[in-house]
Amino acid sequence: MTSPFRNLPSVSRLLVHRRIRPLLSQMASDSVAELVRQQLQEARRAIAAGHECPPTEALVESVLARAELLLQSTLRPVINASGVIIHTNLGRAPLSREAIAAMEAVSRGYSNLEFDLTEGERGHRQVHLETLLCQISGAQAAMAVNNNAGAVLLALTALAKEREVIISRGQAVEIGGGFRIPAVMHQSGARLVEVGTTNRTYLSDYQQAITSDTAALMRVHASNFRIIGFVESTPLEDLVRLAHEHGLLLMDDLGSGCLIDTSQFGLAAEPTIQESVAAGADLTLFSGDKLLGGPQAGIIVGREELVAGLRRHPLARALRLDKASVAALAATAIHYVRDEALEKIPVWRMIAMPLPTIERRARRWARAIGAPAHILHGRSMIGGGSLPEEGLPTRVIAIPAHGGRSVTELAQRLRLGQPPVIGRIEHDQLLLDPRTVAPADDSTLVEAVAAALGR
Ligand SMILES: *Cc1c(COP(=O)(O)O)cnc(C)c1O
Repeated sequence: MTSPFRNLPSVSRLLVHRRIRPLLSQMASDSVAELVRQQLQEARRAIAAGHECPPTEALVESVLARAELLLQSTLRPVINASGVIIHTNLGRAPLSREAIAAMEAVSRGYSNLEFDLTEGERGHRQVHLETLLCQISGAQAAMAVNNNAGAVLLALTALAKEREVIISRGQAVEIGGGFRIPAVMHQSGARLVEVGTTNRTYLSDYQQAITSDTAALMRVHASNFRIIGFVESTPLEDLVRLAHEHGLLLMDDLGSGCLIDTSQFGLAAEPTIQESVAAGADLTLFSGDKLLGGPQAGIIVGREELVAGLRRHPLARALRLDKASVAALAATAIHYVRDEALEKIPVWRMIAMPLPTIERRARRWARAIGAPAHILHGRSMIGGGSLPEEGLPTRVIAIPAHGGRSVTELAQRLRLGQPPVIGRIEHDQLLLDPRTVAPADDSTLVEAVAAALGR
């Protein structure tokens, strides 16, 4: 009996196949050979499992399909119609046009990233950020690292290693995406001392926990959930006073770096960076890509001598921000200095979008899509661990199961379209919220929905 493997072509025979050869003009020859080897390997496994030897044409077809997949990045733009403005899984904050232009400008060629043009000698990347970040926060000094988890790690490592940091039990939490405050503190070598209970922590709880080993009190604005009812937390001013009376530091992890009063949009007041600085926090830490609306970054503002020490710490080098992010963060900060954040920064444009504008777009979508799409009153969410139960009133397009397709099937067809469209399922309907969709994408979205409905 002949071995079923004998009918498999060799790597070299497939490489000269008339449909494989053109791949060599699009891909490195080693990559083509590797794809062919992977395909043959898979065929051998299938044969060993009792399947028949696939015909050569089928192998070629599969190699071509693999090549096509490999040549497109798996990371691609999507249309976020979920109504969640800061969606961590969808890349958090979209950037302003100016921030994107700034990234492109410094990426295309060389820049004075770490070069002092006046003196013609080595400079520092933080100088491009510090003045701006101080201006918008009111702090004495500022710096930025790769992300806020990194900022917390850096601050605790540099200032509290092998010492105690006191934190309320209600704040020693997981923020999302597996970022757990106790785990990061452990990693830094600081010893976490939890005080109070989950729902109530008083100033006296902190006071009683202070020892000669204490380095800092820490507040974490853990805002991706809310404990309601019988709740007591300590105002930041009181924590600052207590810390300073004992010669300790007060570190404030704000999470979402908010500079704008959210109550003007009918939301709860998210604590702002300026309030934290004004209350006397020694260091205030926050993300660049949540409510700040900029690139991924961890920003630290606070007292000059503390920030200077952090800048010199070896971890600062390991966590440093790349030039494109420095450029985008500076451009984002300039929007605040110019008082144009609500018009220019996409997350704030979305938050500030007037309901009549949303309603008009929703009606246009509904008309273009036709039945069974209809308009409902809904809520857009801030997301990104901010204002968990708040929402902004919005109008959504709702699509129920239709033409033999369930709502989950419809949602999947939209996700697998080009471009992918991400909606949200509620009460057995697929909801699409115009608030988080760039108006320039309106017609693309309508076409994608029509295609998913099988039109
Ligand atoms: C989001 C968040 C972090 C983590 O910030 P990244 O920029 O995602 O690293 C840390 N602390 C709080 C309170 C947060 O909300």
